[in-house]
Amino acid sequence: MIVAERKPMDEIVAMLAPHRKVLVLGCGGCVTVCLTGGEKQAELLAGQLRLAARQAGRTLEAAFDCITRQCEREFFDNLTEDPRTYDAVLSIACGAGVQYMSELYPEVPILPGMNTTFLASNVAGGVWEEYCRGCGDCVLAWTGGICPITQCSKSLINGTCGGTNNGKCEVNPEMECGWLRIYERLKALGQLDNYRTLRAARDHRKDRGGGVRRLVLKDMAESQESGNE
Ligand code: SF4
Ligand code: SF4
Repeated sequence: MIVAERKPMDEIVAMLAPHRKVLVLGCGGCVTVCLTGGEKQAELLAGQLRLAARQAGRTLEAAFDCITRQCEREFFDNLTEDPRTYDAVLSIACGAGVQYMSELYPEVPILPGMNTTFLASNVAGGVWEEYCRGCGDCVLAWTGGICPITQCSKSLINGTCGGTNNGKCEVNPEMECGWLRIYERLKALGQLDNYRTLRAARDHRKDRGGGVRRLVLKDMAESQESGNE
């Protein structure tokens, strides 16, 4: 899942300063699961914004709404509020939701209420940790199921870097050295050949070096196209 954290309140208040009537829009997807951007949070934030405005001696009408997902067209039909009747929408979805909604409502400023951070797993109550960076060329098969892109601070494809200190990462001593973990996992699996094999440099065009990436399911795209004809 994608993890997104709410922006600091003062940043949100400054963003909304030119507007008098705003809609806080929650999303029922990942941000609801990580308890940062769902319906409850939208309601709470709308109340906090009204209060902050009152305390600052300004008038602000702040309503809230929530849809199942802000990254899919069909769910916008379920909006209770019409975004076009507001000066601005504060979306508390991830960055994909904010941008997609901007395309659907080009006449309304759609503002980001969140900082979108990483692909995570829920490792303990209230704790989400980064596990994947969407690099587009997964190498977990030969790294013992541990991602070197996220679990190594330098995202090395051939580790370790030599700076490992008592099992900790030299860049971030709070974390285990990802490459040491990979080594130990491969050793336990009897797969140290994978560790010794020198890997070629990664093709960053599959990552963020090649512009916007797309997933196209050919059959589905073709049947949709013929249905539209
Ligand atoms: S290797 Fe790439 S796709 Fe696989 S888990 Fe790591 S970042 Fe994600
Ligand atoms: S100490 Fe380990 S995790 Fe840290 S940068 Fe070096 S190889 Fe990567």
